Amino acid sequence: TQGIFWFRRDLRLADHPALERAIQSHDALLLVYVDDDADGIFDASRAWLRRSLGKLAEDIRARGGELHLIAGDPEALIPALALATGAAAVHISALHEPDADARDARIAAALAASGIAMRRAGGRLLTDADAVLTQSSTPFRVFTPFHKTARPTWRHRPREAPATLSGCALPSSLEGARTTIAAPRPRWDSGFWGMWAPGEAAALARLDDLLPRLHAYPDARDVPSVEGTSRLSPHLHFGEINPSRIFDVVQQHGGIGADKYIAEIGWREFAYYVLHHWPSSLNDNFNPKFDAMPWHHDPGQLEAWQYGRTGVPLVDAGMRQLWHEGWMHNRVRMVVASWLTKHMGIDWRQGAAWFMHALVDADLASNTLGWQWVAGTGVDAAPYFRIFNPATQSRRFDPQGAYLRRWLPELRGLGDDAIHAPWERGLRVPGYPVKPIVDLSAGRDAALARLAALAK
Ligand code: FAD
Repeated sequence: TQGIFWFRRDLRLADHPALERAIQSHDALLLVYVDDDADGIFDASRAWLRRSLGKLAEDIRARGGELHLIAGDPEALIPALALATGAAAVHISALHEPDADARDARIAAALAASGIAMRRAGGRLLTDADAVLTQSSTPFRVFTPFHKTARPTWRHRPREAPATLSGCALPSSLEGARTTIAAPRPRWDSGFWGMWAPGEAAALARLDDLLPRLHAYPDARDVPSVEGTSRLSPHLHFGEINPSRIFDVVQQHGGIGADKYIAEIGWREFAYYVLHHWPSSLNDNFNPKFDAMPWHHDPGQLEAWQYGRTGVPLVDAGMRQLWHEGWMHNRVRMVVASWLTKHMGIDWRQGAAWFMHALVDADLASNTLGWQWVAGTGVDAAPYFRIFNPATQSRRFDPQGAYLRRWLPELRGLGDDAIHAPWERGLRVPGYPVKPIVDLSAGRDAALARLAALAK
């Protein structure tokens, strides 16, 4: 029989349960990716997607197959493709996002009406969200007990990439849907590629590169000026590597750092777990108390934050790193998110939307959890009254100002202490704001006053 394999965010060939099953089930497979702008793929991640698909197509070609890239609404295209090819089944990996899963269910129903099966497998996550529950069979709301219960259930079954893939032609009735993903214009992504190499081979190389540094991970992960983390997040987002492989390799390597790293993989699992059990947390405050929060609406201030012109060096450095690399260090993500939602009083959803636009690892589950956690509105969140002081964070995690100097060349001449808060000494730097857009202590007091008003 013929089958269809529909690639989505599983852009790899190894450790791929859905692809393995598809290959075992059919004599020939049509391999397809459907470019759907309504998919929620924002700009920076689209630049990544374009290259990742290019790599996948090469890897498939090297095995005798062909990846067909078509554009349009999958709800129309997938059933049309299945009917035109006489496919017995369409194979997918689950996405674990509420809207995407609902769409898959509609497509499955449309296929079923024509007697065609939709076969869905895992491979994106390690945790079965419905099986990992508290003793009273309710979902966990706190990370640590979740992780303690979930981790022993994680398994890895290694799967080699297929040696060959039979090539199937696109039916002529769908030739008109054939597409390519254009390079961004202007080439604002050009700065990305010194840092990043999308694709499965590069993802596996990143994992190899992490191992000799793993012992230093628990401390180095908090220092934004060093490459202390794995930078696997965009590879994981696009499914260029199965998290089970990461878990297995890191666990076998062992030693100091392995548990800490596996716990971070656990945070990704927790983000998807929360989204599964509380799908409305994508847009709504997890804690409804915050629905009455009088968020500050100020497009000008929001823009100053977006483009790194707040006058707070660590915040501005982070926002510029985001713009240049499509990525930001986790410690700095927390600081810029806290600054926006606490000192500036701007709704976390506005910050989350900017991150979805600018991050190559933009991921609905992890981004929403991260923002709600920092904003204090989320599950297992930092309490709202815990407000990061960005100058203190800067002095603590970037003591020599190496990260600041890298991203804010205009501040390079300032001393190691002054660079964290030039306004404290009345220093004026041409081209840089004289003082923060919001005064640090007034912003903190205003945030606490908003919280006190909510509590009443
Ligand atoms: P490492 O330290 O090497 O961690 C390994 C992997 O663990 C990461 O690749 C990631 O998959 C996972 N991980 C680590 N920390 C977290 C976390 N706090 N939550 C969930 N997963 C985690 N991560 C995204 O992948 N996409 C996002 O859109 C995203 N938005 C965020 C927004 C905010 C406000 C915050 C505070 C965090 C966000 N994170 C997001 C989580 C985290 O910052 C990144 O996963 C991490 O910085 C990626 O770098 P790395 O791969 O080098 O991390």
